[in-house]
Amino acid sequence: MTPLAPLPAPPAPRAWPAALAALPAALGLVLPATCAGCGRWETALCPECAALLDAPLTETASAPAAEELRVHSVLAYAGTGRALVLNWKNGAREDLAPVMAAVGARAGGQWAGLSGWPGRGAEGADGPPRLLVVPAPSGIVRRARGRLVAAVLADAVALGIARSPAAPPPGGRDAPRPLVVSADILRRTGGRALRGAHQAGLSAAQRRRNRSAPPRVLADVDGWDALIVDDVVTTGATLRSCAAALAGAGARPLGALVLAATPPPPGTAPRLPGPIPTGPPGGPEPRRRAAPRARRPASSAPGDRGAGALREGRRMV
Ligand SMILES: [Zn+2]
Repeated sequence: MTPLAPLPAPPAPRAWPAALAALPAALGLVLPATCAGCGRWETALCPECAALLDAPLTETASAPAAEELRVHSVLAYAGTGRALVLNWKNGAREDLAPVMAAVGARAGGQWAGLSGWPGRGAEGADGPPRLLVVPAPSGIVRRARGRLVAAVLADAVALGIARSPAAPPPGGRDAPRPLVVSADILRRTGGRALRGAHQAGLSAAQRRRNRSAPPRVLADVDGWDALIVDDVVTTGATLRSCAAALAGAGARPLGALVLAATPPPPGTAPRLPGPIPTGPPGGPEPRRRAAPRARRPASSAPGDRGAGALREGRRMV
């Protein structure tokens, strides 16, 4: 009888998972980096695109739906500026995160200088001046993905305002220091946005209604000043609805700060620059709530940053 041939030795396990894990780094050694804005090779951010992000804040004239809310932006949402924002927002260029954090902090400092916050209106108030830096709400899909770019920007902006020399204690050196808090406390409500759905498939009118529905406010903001932060402004309807929600909860919206603004159509007259009213005596009074409402805990949604807050960069809530 012919002896059975020994079974062949099993093949050695392939090490392809480890090889795949190392692929991005390996590619980085082979392929030159490209500019996140214009795609120029051999640089992650070319001088021209870096200059776009280093531009001084400008007040946008292309967000009519923001109405009386003054909106300041860093760059125009067009061309390479749009590519920069999208590449960061969609996660294609994670290496932009520290750049955008620096841009947000610098923009916050500039906003403090432009607005003069806390300003004269804070004198005589109970306790130190308090400013909430509130990101526009993200949908649940983006929240679950952890791509909360508006919240990341708000953290950086709050840090920039808190560190700004333009925001000294209004009552002198011995007065309590102003409090600057970044708080992700708005959640979309109404229609499909209640479920945080993307707006794909909705008509323009439906999108406007969706975006203009005031979001829920998850924290007690009564008596706080507020600055709304978002990555991009188009019509301004989202920012206005955020301001309305915050005002309805007793806060005083002072303006909005965005990374990029859709450029105005040709021939549009720019709004005249000027100081941002921070509420000296005689300024608009915040609407007071008729009755205190129970607040939902701010950390219940997936990927939720909660009512994360900064004081001099420290998350508080
Ligand atoms: Zn470039």
